[in-house]
Amino acid sequence: MIYLDNAATSCPKPPEVVEAVAQALTDVCANPSRGAYELSLQASRDLLHTRQALARLFNVPDASGVIFTLNATHALNMAIKGLVAPGRDPGSARSSSSKTEATDRFHVVTSSIEHNAVARPLAALERRGVEITRVGCASDGTTDPDDILAAVRPDTALVVLTHASNVLGTVLPIAEVGPRLRERGVPLLVDAAQTAGIFPIDVQAMSIALLAVSGHKSLLGPQGVGVLCMAPGLELDTLVEGGTGSRSESLEQPTTCPDRFEAGTPNSPGIAGLGAGIGVVEREGVFARGTREIALTRRLRDSLEGFERIRTYGPASRAGQEDAAPLVSLEVEGVPSGHLARVLDKEFNIAVRAGLHCAPEAHRVAGTLKTGLVRLSIGHATTSADIEGAIDAFEEIISKPASYWTTEWEGRHAR
Ligand code: PMP
Repeated sequence: MIYLDNAATSCPKPPEVVEAVAQALTDVCANPSRGAYELSLQASRDLLHTRQALARLFNVPDASGVIFTLNATHALNMAIKGLVAPGRDPGSARSSSSKTEATDRFHVVTSSIEHNAVARPLAALERRGVEITRVGCASDGTTDPDDILAAVRPDTALVVLTHASNVLGTVLPIAEVGPRLRERGVPLLVDAAQTAGIFPIDVQAMSIALLAVSGHKSLLGPQGVGVLCMAPGLELDTLVEGGTGSRSESLEQPTTCPDRFEAGTPNSPGIAGLGAGIGVVEREGVFARGTREIALTRRLRDSLEGFERIRTYGPASRAGQEDAAPLVSLEVEGVPSGHLARVLDKEFNIAVRAGLHCAPEAHRVAGTLKTGLVRLSIGHATTSADIEGAIDAFEEIISKPASYWTTEWEGRHAR
């Protein structure tokens, strides 16, 4: 099988990750931060190990600002709704502005290519009166940093941007806007689901106040773990309150991190697996991993762009592809995306994702909202042979008329 759905989750997981999960379940299955006995202390140490590895990877100044979540979606909701809650004091999030009265009026700036993990929480807030500015972009998702900065107003409580689009691969200008937003005292939340582990991310150098990450994509951990990294001094409301193993006598949620945002029993086996995944990332190097995956992507994209009846989307090979996430989204003329993905699976044993990829906004920008696209995404286990296999498959697909795949082939493979 050729697995080209790494933008959904990395697969297979490295053996180190599988071992770490199994070991956490067999050898250290006590709850962390809850008991004074040795096994519980060991579980706490394991949690801290992964927390510190994440702090190192993203240059978070204090590991207690690394919060474990269920996934990137959970981290993004915590950040967005923790900062932008109607009734909250908007000044409390802005480092340089003076405190103001609690208000229902908030303004948030975002891009036009966000995943639903950002777009839906923002839309929910919009229905409660929050004003959202969605900055326009080119049809390949390229967004001008000056347009983002120009959208910021004195009452802007948050700027939230994806690092890279999961549909187009386009990378947004985080390093350019971050420091300028910090000067203006506006917190920047970055959705790094598609880039963490393959693009260098330094939250201090890039002035990222909040970084939301999936543990299960290029960080190679198991599903069920995500991360929110917070800059020191940021005040966020909590989404969830409950037991933390600390200050249990109080009905108030602790104010110190990470306890404030980690109520309830954590996913210790998942976090141990994530720690092992980060170990692999550190050993191989973020830059080297990204460079390898982008080279494979370029080979795939350049070949597919050369085929008649195939149209690829996202930044063109020539313009800035080295800056794009390792994926190719495309359509084959006359073959609907869901159908094409089925042909790739059943006929060629190639796993890809079709449709809207939970990011209708990016498809609206690309003009593919009605049709969807097929996305091929490269990951740590993708080989040159996989890429050549995919190219061969597409060559065979376009050697036959679209009607062959939609009628004759379909007739033989009717579900
Ligand atoms: N943002 C982007 C850009 C994504 O690609 C994804 C996953 N497809 C998410 C957020 C959500 O990540 P998770 O599944 O870890 O919640």
